[in-house]
Amino acid sequence: GFNCGIVGLPNVGKSTLFNALTKSGIDAENFPFCTIEPNVGIVPMPDPRLDKLAEIVKPQKVLPTTMEFVDIAGLVAGASKGEGLGNKFLANIRETQAIAHVVRCFDNDNVIHVANQVDPRADIETINLELALADLDTVEKASQRLVRSVKGGDKDAIATKAILDRIQPHVAEGLPLRSFGLSEEEQRQVKSFGFLTLKPTMYIANVNEDGFENNPYLDIVNEIAAEEGALVVPVCNQLEAEIAELDDEERSMFLSEMGMEEPGLDRVIRAGYSLLGLQTYFTAGVKEVRAWTVKEGATAPEAAGVIHTDFQKGFIRAEVVAYDDFVSLNGEQGAKDAGKWRLEGKEYIVKDGDVVHFRFNV
Ligand code: GDP
Repeated sequence: GFNCGIVGLPNVGKSTLFNALTKSGIDAENFPFCTIEPNVGIVPMPDPRLDKLAEIVKPQKVLPTTMEFVDIAGLVAGASKGEGLGNKFLANIRETQAIAHVVRCFDNDNVIHVANQVDPRADIETINLELALADLDTVEKASQRLVRSVKGGDKDAIATKAILDRIQPHVAEGLPLRSFGLSEEEQRQVKSFGFLTLKPTMYIANVNEDGFENNPYLDIVNEIAAEEGALVVPVCNQLEAEIAELDDEERSMFLSEMGMEEPGLDRVIRAGYSLLGLQTYFTAGVKEVRAWTVKEGATAPEAAGVIHTDFQKGFIRAEVVAYDDFVSLNGEQGAKDAGKWRLEGKEYIVKDGDVVHFRFNV
């Protein structure tokens, strides 16, 4: 599955966010193939299109697609040197595909700040430094391992070593690799090292209820993110935790009272999804209407493989109706009648919202 690790200094609101995400979650029993650890939450992707499809198809079951969030507690200054749970923590981050970095942007005298004052820039730098130092360690170990092959004239090794030599001073300064400007080709070459500061990253600015505007802390996070080309999602984690406790009816009442269109969590989940370059396609049968996740640019057989590897191996064709057509023409038959039902082959690149039925050999 696709996942996003939640990191940040202690007391910035990580667990509050994680708990809100998992409370809004779906029954694990619907997903029997996932092993769930206490720090892993399977979170449904909010997608109003599913309800629209269900209205038309009237299936027995409706299943959203999901994303995993991993609560990675325990990052403190010195983690890269093995302080606290440093090594375990870094290993946990290595396994995630994207990073949600929670930054404290609220004042609250009852909540102690680890450095005794709320200072988003210092907080962000502390975390980024630990991640960069972990990458520095990776660079140095990898360089050492390559020395012999470089001497032996191995072209790949020489090229890789050259990149490592160039990025070494950058990470040694505590700067994230995502701001180094590696080309796509270079990124491919260093992919296997799993550099932490190359992972797509967003900042979750944890603000108070009234802290979405005129908040100097939030301004700083926006400034830093702009420098790095990173994404910022301002959210009040405490409020989200309260919203997550409500049942559906109470929740919509509460949201409209607050003048909110949707829980802020939905923005967090969507941001994580887009950070990973993901999109959704649908299957819409009478048994089940379901959303599935694929990487942008996935071909039809790759999309079929998300459902089952046999679907990919035996792929013949995909029957496709664009979401808008499916809805405006009131389902598959309407789409067929209007000439909007297509048969696509194995080169077809799946588009966000496609309603797909796969034909395959078993
Ligand atoms: P963690 O150590 O990063 O996991 O932080 P927690 O989620 O445990 O939060 C630390 C404390 O900050 C808790 O007492 C939370 O209730 C409080 N807190 C979290 N988010 C907010 C917020 O948006 N506003 C305020 N005022 N307090 C918050």
